[in-house]
Amino acid sequence: MPNVTTDAFVLRVAPRGSSDKLLTLISPTEGRFYAILKGGNSIKNRQVAATEPYTWSNFEFYERNGFKWVKNATAIESFGGVRYDSEKLFLAAYFSDVVFELSDEKSPAGEILPLCLNAIHMLSTTTGEDTRIKAAFELRSAVIAGFAPALDACTHCGKEIGDDVYLDVMDGALVCAPCLSRKTALVPLPEVDDTGVRHVLSPLCASAVAAFRFVSDVSPKRVFSFRLTDARAEEMFSRATEAYLLHHLERGFETLENYKRLLAIRRQMIKS
Ligand SMILES: [Zn+2]
Repeated sequence: MPNVTTDAFVLRVAPRGSSDKLLTLISPTEGRFYAILKGGNSIKNRQVAATEPYTWSNFEFYERNGFKWVKNATAIESFGGVRYDSEKLFLAAYFSDVVFELSDEKSPAGEILPLCLNAIHMLSTTTGEDTRIKAAFELRSAVIAGFAPALDACTHCGKEIGDDVYLDVMDGALVCAPCLSRKTALVPLPEVDDTGVRHVLSPLCASAVAAFRFVSDVSPKRVFSFRLTDARAEEMFSRATEAYLLHHLERGFETLENYKRLLAIRRQMIKS
């Protein structure tokens, strides 16, 4: 059987037996698939780098016993900026898990693959932007998964949205404060609480709503080309996008929890 060549992104790497590795890969045309990298002396150094998690590489495979085996691998983009920064590396792992969730075997990867590559490229080449990149990735992933929010007007009264608005996460729609107060008799909702309420109704300022609209509708290449007015807007936007993606996928991600634990430890270290 002839060898097959394709560019693919390394989503996961797991040990297989005593020296081989099982790679979970995704390519634009084939979608998600598995390949085995033989270990021991047969691996050249450059192939090790090309088969690291979160690397975009060119692979040559041969097929045997119904499996793909890596014959050659050459890194096209290693995203060096995420390799030595544990926060960025943890985020890359989370992004890869989301891609795994939103992709299938034997079906083209679609927009989720370039979104992931762009997001990791952004992580790799910027500083202080991780929260915004994560939020845009989460929201656009939800849209790709078929959960585009309705952001034109209040879903209850149809009036244009002002500055005081909530995202009804489950409905994927905006609710104005007057409608919400009529609905819940809670005026105003606490801006920060740790119960489920905040996660279902996420407060958004005008800048966060604008970011929601932009990321939901813009062409794929421009998903990360936006700014929020201040840290408060970024906080609102990122809380809402995370809740939005997790609620609609109906699951959490261990890699996301790892990232949050790491942030909490960092914050603690800064305080003490
Ligand atoms: Zn309303």
